[in-house]
Amino acid sequence: FDDRDGFIWYNGEIIPWRDAKVHILSHGLHYGSSVFEGERSYNGRIFKRQEHHERLISSGKILGFDVPYSVEELHQASQKVMDANNIVDGYFRPVAWRGSEMMAVSAQKSRIHVAIAAWDWPSYFSPEDRLKGIRLDFAEWRRPDPATAPVHSKAAGLYMIATLSKHAAEAKGYNDALMLDYRGQIAEATGANVFLVQDGKIHTPIADCFLDGITRRTVIELAKQKGYDVVERAIMPEEFAKTQEVFLTGTAVEVTPVSEIGEYKFTPGDITKDLLLAYDQLVREPVL
Ligand code: PMP
Repeated sequence: FDDRDGFIWYNGEIIPWRDAKVHILSHGLHYGSSVFEGERSYNGRIFKRQEHHERLISSGKILGFDVPYSVEELHQASQKVMDANNIVDGYFRPVAWRGSEMMAVSAQKSRIHVAIAAWDWPSYFSPEDRLKGIRLDFAEWRRPDPATAPVHSKAAGLYMIATLSKHAAEAKGYNDALMLDYRGQIAEATGANVFLVQDGKIHTPIADCFLDGITRRTVIELAKQKGYDVVERAIMPEEFAKTQEVFLTGTAVEVTPVSEIGEYKFTPGDITKDLLLAYDQLVREPVL
């Protein structure tokens, strides 16, 4: 991904893609002091950029560091990246990490670096294709207890178990993995939140030990506007037996139906379809 044309915003400047390098002794690389965001632009506008940039700053704070740019400066920086790369429908990846000034667990005085990369990412699949659903396996790794890890930060370190789980699922021919939490309750997929439809009502786990996704919150809002009941509660995996529809939400996956989780099978249905189309429409609506 590093050897290509394009431009990346790096500590306040737009530089050529190939020159956006870090030093080997970066604290972020050795000790996981790194946080990031994943954003999408539609028709040349980043959807929910305010929420994403606030979350980047908050993720850093949870890891004990201040991102040295304001939300407004991050908006301007991402706009520069969009313009420099001529992006209309794209994916944006802001990242902030501790630099190489100190090489030990303690790195209080290290510089906080920030970069934003972005690339074209059109919607590849039609709603009809997406409605076929994806297949998930149950992950062996569990989302940790909030007393064990900084679970509300979008911290790079928390993605160790996501990558392990996703690789294990892919090796068995699945698209992704569903992670339970430390209590054995349904948590989330490796990069997306999960929703269940039971008898016309929408259920989703309480985001107390995993990321409360921006898409999750948007879809809850959309569902309520459409008159659906949305219940946030603890859900055990056995409940998939009495669940008719399952879908994932996230910046990358948008609203993606699930057709299978381990031994459980689902048929993407009307509620999933309704929310998928409503979300597709919302992200492209001009803001007044
Ligand atoms: N959970 C995890 C682990 C994620 O990586 C993501 C993607 N950022 C989400 C949930 C969904 O979050 P969002 O809707 O803010 O993209």
